Amino acid sequence: MSVPVPRRAVLRGAVLLGAAAGVTALGQFTADRGARAVGSRVDQPVIANCATWGARPPSSAVTVVQNRPNKIIIHHTAFPNSTDYSLAHAYQNSRDIQNLHMDTNGWIDSGQHFTNSRAGYLTEGRHGSLYALLHGQTMVQGAHCVGQNSQAIGIENEGIYLDVQPPQALWDSLVTFCAFTCQQYAIPATEIYGHKDFNSTQCPGLLHDRLPELRSAVAARLG
Ligand SMILES: [Zn+2]
Repeated sequence: MSVPVPRRAVLRGAVLLGAAAGVTALGQFTADRGARAVGSRVDQPVIANCATWGARPPSSAVTVVQNRPNKIIIHHTAFPNSTDYSLAHAYQNSRDIQNLHMDTNGWIDSGQHFTNSRAGYLTEGRHGSLYALLHGQTMVQGAHCVGQNSQAIGIENEGIYLDVQPPQALWDSLVTFCAFTCQQYAIPATEIYGHKDFNSTQCPGLLHDRLPELRSAVAARLG
C-alpha cells in the first residue's frame, strides 16, 4: 500500500500524457510486437492501459521524469484476497485502487505505476506509465514509496500476504513483469526491492521474503 507524498513534488515540472497518447503508443507497440530489439529476450506481456480498464483522468497533469528508473519496488494492496479471478475483477481492482488514491489519499492519480491481479492480469496504474515503459527512456513520477518515486517503478500486487502466499498466477505474472521492466530500462535483476526496504510498513508481507527467489527468476529470464 502506498503512503502520501508532498503534492508539490507531484506537480513540479508537470507534462500531460493523456489517455489518448497512451492508446496511440500502445497501438504502435502492439503492431510492432513481432519485431523485438536485438538482444531483447523477454516478450512484452499484455498490460491493459488506463483507457482499457476505465481509469478516471488524473486530477492534474502527471510528471514525466527525464531519467530511467533504477529499481523496481514490490507492494501488496492490503485489499482482501479475492477469489474472483476474472479479467473484469482485475479491472475493478484497478479502479478501486485509483479511487482510494484519489478520493481518500488526495493524490492526482493511482500512486503505483502498474498493478498485478491475483489472477495475474497486469494493468497500467498512473497514466503514462505504460507509454514510458514501452519506450524505456523516461518514467512517470509515482506516489508509492516515499523517497523513491522518481527513481523506482512501483507495482501493486492485489491482496494481503502477511500470513498467506500469493496465488501462483500472481507470482508468475510478477516475474514476467519484472523481467520485461528490467529489460526495458536496463535495471539489474538485483535491483528489485520491497516497500519495507525504504519505508516503515509491513508491505509487501511474505512477498518480501521471496525477493531473492524473484531476483533469481528474473535474472534467468533475462539470460
Ligand atoms: Zn507498499
